[in-house]
Amino acid sequence: MRIALDVDGVLADVLEMWAGRRGIPKGDARSWYFWKDLGIPADEFYRGLDACWQEWRLIPPTEDRIGEKAAALAELGTVDIVTARTPATDAAVREWLAHHGVPYSKYVSVPSGAQKAELEYDVFIDDSPINAEKITEAGMRVIVYEQPWNAGLDPARYRRVAGLEEAASLLG
Ligand SMILES: [Mg+2]
Repeated sequence: MRIALDVDGVLADVLEMWAGRRGIPKGDARSWYFWKDLGIPADEFYRGLDACWQEWRLIPPTEDRIGEKAAALAELGTVDIVTARTPATDAAVREWLAHHGVPYSKYVSVPSGAQKAELEYDVFIDDSPINAEKITEAGMRVIVYEQPWNAGLDPARYRRVAGLEEAASLLG
């Protein structure tokens, strides 16, 4: 089983740090484009995320023992990190993964989330409702990692999990 594991919002809670800096509760991010409603331009939002990654040591994991839980997934198949991001942040992401003991086979970085659905995996673990739709349309399986911005996904079509252990139990 080939598993594509996302980083931002699934392993690394970068929006927690971003929101904290803006004085916005992370729970207010009720949609993927919540920042538009706040009048924040796209380039400013994405630059803000990149700035968080420049201080990667301050980015909290989404859950405790994240490396251990990712390792449990790696016992079920081949886990690749599949992340959409600015290439300038790749080195920081790799440092973060090593620091938190997250094991993986390949590190795959794509410029945009939509390109994930062009890759071939048996299952993606991702928090983006947009990616979830595209991956599903491409005929692949997606497990949605629960975040406020994906709460609106139709539960009849998308399986959401509260954490990596739940994802592992679905796949095991
Ligand atoms: Mg993500």
